[in-house]
Amino acid sequence: MQIMGKKLLYLTFDCEVYSKNKELYKDFYHPTLAIAEFFKKEKIPITLFVSLSKKFPSIKDYYIVLDSLLKKLRKNKYVSVQLHLHFYDLPVNRIRSKSDIMKDYSMNELKKIFKWACAFLKKYGFNPVIFRPAGYITGKSEEYYNLLKEFNLMSSNLKEYPTEKIKTFPISTFKSHNRYLKSNKSIITPEIIPAKKVHKEFQKNPDNLLVSNFHSFSVYSSSVLSWHPCSIIKVLRKIKDKFLGLFNVKNYNESYEWKQMKKFIKKYKNQYDFKNFK
Ligand SMILES: [Zn+2]
Repeated sequence: MQIMGKKLLYLTFDCEVYSKNKELYKDFYHPTLAIAEFFKKEKIPITLFVSLSKKFPSIKDYYIVLDSLLKKLRKNKYVSVQLHLHFYDLPVNRIRSKSDIMKDYSMNELKKIFKWACAFLKKYGFNPVIFRPAGYITGKSEEYYNLLKEFNLMSSNLKEYPTEKIKTFPISTFKSHNRYLKSNKSIITPEIIPAKKVHKEFQKNPDNLLVSNFHSFSVYSSSVLSWHPCSIIKVLRKIKDKFLGLFNVKNYNESYEWKQMKKFIKKYKNQYDFKNFK
């Protein structure tokens, strides 16, 4: 066990449209760029798990926006873009992908989808080495790891099953009831707890290799994962968002959660070694 050294921290971000907002620019495009820009300034390597599916039928022009986003991201040397698959409406030959959920597809279909997805990222100069499944749903573990092995992918998920087949990077958690995940564990992230507690939980964690996660849609809006010490502020924020929504005004104020992420970096970055998956 490493005692004197710093803990190794992988900061990961799931970049995607959020089910409650369904706003392509506010949930996905602008926040992903803001995340990339912030960590470039801090000279900290990060991993972006970018959804290759628009997720919802109401989203228009997803691949045009995704194209523009990936072209911008590939110029940023601190960013590694990796595979995050949602499955709704993927442009894969002869597969009617009307379900967003991985377990609704046969192994044969999944192989075609993974082949397409790896080639898609490579086209932009990214080297797919790790996979993050959507919604933490993987289906049968044995088959899942066999599939990833075939594409030379590691796995980073909330839960990982014991396997010798591939390398796995479970997301670091702490004991606390999480309604969203329907579990008694929560992810150690400023998306859920304040910066100071994030650092405390990382230090308490027995692992020297830590993985954290944050969603792009939590940069400009507060998600289901949202926490705020003052519930009246939470309510007021919701009213304001509803009100602006009535007039179709996009509110791009930074969320409390994103400010906590920035605070965590400013305050504690010297106490960690950072790495990305690439
Ligand atoms: Zn997702």
